[in-house]
Amino acid sequence: MKIAVLPGDGIGTEIVAEALKVLQALDLSLELEHALVGGAAYEAHGHPLPDSTLRLAQAADAVLFGAVGDWKYDRLERSLRPEQAILGLRKHLKLFANLRPAICYQQLVAASSLKPELIAGLDILIIRELTGDIYFGQPRGRRVATDGHFPGAEEAFDTMRYSKPEIERIAHVAFQAARKRQKKVTSVDKANVLETFQFWRDVLTEVHQQYPDVELEHMYVDNAAMQLVRAPKKFDVIVTGNLFGDILSDEAAMLTGSIGMLPSASLNARNQGLFEPSHGSAPDIAGQGVANPLATILSAAMMLRFSLNQPAAAQRIEAAVQAVLAQGLRTADIFSPGSTRVGTREMGDAVVKALRAS
Ligand code: NAD
Repeated sequence: MKIAVLPGDGIGTEIVAEALKVLQALDLSLELEHALVGGAAYEAHGHPLPDSTLRLAQAADAVLFGAVGDWKYDRLERSLRPEQAILGLRKHLKLFANLRPAICYQQLVAASSLKPELIAGLDILIIRELTGDIYFGQPRGRRVATDGHFPGAEEAFDTMRYSKPEIERIAHVAFQAARKRQKKVTSVDKANVLETFQFWRDVLTEVHQQYPDVELEHMYVDNAAMQLVRAPKKFDVIVTGNLFGDILSDEAAMLTGSIGMLPSASLNARNQGLFEPSHGSAPDIAGQGVANPLATILSAAMMLRFSLNQPAAAQRIEAAVQAVLAQGLRTADIFSPGSTRVGTREMGDAVVKALRAS
């Protein structure tokens, strides 16, 4: 099992180091190879995703990614900015499905901005299509309008589009994921207004016929945004397009209180994947040893489950994380009075200890 380890920038190096400690504490034969990515790669090689890094990622079964970015690169031309490395990896590895679980741990219920009874026990999975939709549709650009409300005025436009195979493959990911959970898929669209999403709804309904054991409901995106804060526990798996998924996955993330707890996976058709915390490189706290490593440790668990076919090992990590939370250990972002404040390294060590004890 070959893993490309790309820590990146800011807190990326600190949190990935803890995830590696946890992986190494498992009794698995993992081949780990490191490479630079993002700002660190730009400094060393003049590009955020050097060929050598890309080749390593392509040859691996999975990529464990930290985070990239720093304010100091904001003035670089777009193609050289650290964040471009993620887009490049998604494109070259053909990662079309983004999976983000939003789980509210019992011990962290108070960290959410919602009432405890709404989110206690929350466990939903948001699946976002990652390679299509209005983000990539052509044509796009600026021009002088020839029609519309203001002919002759300068205007900008993008194209929303999805092909049938693109919708089918993400639908299969959602139904198959639901089979391993509560067997319910909510497909989020805007079929009442957009042609693209009427088509999305039709294709979802068609693919659903192959999964009679899974319940499918359709929901308009405006209603889904509302239901996520009104009654989030009604959801099991949510599947949606790139644009709506971008927004809803961040909304769902905040339900759980801290971004430092949220893992994510991006998968291709061969289940090769990129696994990373949902947060960024947090330059404001980088180098201080206070970042929460749990999102990255939980991303490593997702890697074991989705790309390396090691569900038992994944479960052991998840149980170890629960155990350290139950012991009252908290990094600054999830700290509450009465708990014990720990740094990045101590949190990683505690997970390793809990793992060894299991
Ligand atoms: P961010 O997620 O890095 O940070 C937002 C806030 O959350 C900050 O206050 C930060 O201190 C805190 N935070 C984030 N992760 C934390 C953790 N593990 N533990 C404790 N606190 C944590 O988002 P931002 O500040 O908007 O962006 C910073 C940089 O990261 C930018 O350059 C941005 O482009 C980049 N970014 C990268 C990714 C990625 O690599 N996938 C994603 C988002 C942002």
